[in-house]
Amino acid sequence: MDSKKTVVITGASKGIGAHMAIYFAEKGYNVVINYNMSAESALLLRNSLAQNGCSVMAQKANVANKLEADLLIKEALYKFGSVDILINNAGISSQNLFTDISENEWNNMINVNLTGVFNCTQAVLPTMINNKFGRIINISSAWGVTGASCEVHYSAAKAGVIGLTKALAKEVGPSGITVNCIAPGIIDTQMNSHLTTDELKEFTDSLPIQRIGNTIEIVKTAEFLASDFAGYITGQTICVDGGLTI
Ligand code: NAP
Repeated sequence: MDSKKTVVITGASKGIGAHMAIYFAEKGYNVVINYNMSAESALLLRNSLAQNGCSVMAQKANVANKLEADLLIKEALYKFGSVDILINNAGISSQNLFTDISENEWNNMINVNLTGVFNCTQAVLPTMINNKFGRIINISSAWGVTGASCEVHYSAAKAGVIGLTKALAKEVGPSGITVNCIAPGIIDTQMNSHLTTDELKEFTDSLPIQRIGNTIEIVKTAEFLASDFAGYITGQTICVDGGLTI
């Protein structure tokens, strides 16, 4: 069995997840890059990290599908022997008036952003409980704290992740497992490519820290929560949002 810590990052083919994969791999962790649709970028990322001597694997899984989430963790365990850190990062977003949200759109949002966290966490817990150690880091959103107009489905799913985090933290704390959330504000990734320059300016002008966030600011927060120094922090939501939620 490999003695290095292993981190599974869902939705690591691009955006925040890909930056987490690069950072943790370069720090010497075994890294599992999960992807769903973006096979090409996930495999390119795996190959470039492996060529640089990092310990990585890539695994396709739609986190909304319980069997695929189970297989993701099973393959990670097969390759690396244990999973110490799970970062539930995979997510989707969309904008729509509440009255126009279709049943299908609602279900898809909840299935990926909330049930996906349930599926991957349930799959990984037996090994963490057995090891009496685990770090679960859920990527929620500032909108899960404040709610966002035209994103009721997204806000509800992300608020659900915060509720799941608090309740599970109570349940698995005695097994040496911490469960925390990071709630990013607007971070510079493809997820925000629908915003115009004017919309971004209007948004950043309203923030105490007058800019959007960078992926590294989320990555470093996750690194801290995964570290031994964060062993007394559980059930918390850390807002990395330039002051959006204050
Ligand atoms: P992104 O660039 O759009 O990347 C999303 C990632 O999630 C992709 O790797 C995608 O993989 C993966 N994904 C989507 N559906 C999936 C599924 N069913 N199964 C497995 N993977 C799936 O988004 P991002 O900005 O990095 O966002 C990452 C997380 O941060 C999300 O949970 C998002 O809600 C949260 N967040 C982001 C912001 C922001 O401003 N960017 C703010 C608050 C919260 P494939 O392409 O391979 O399908």
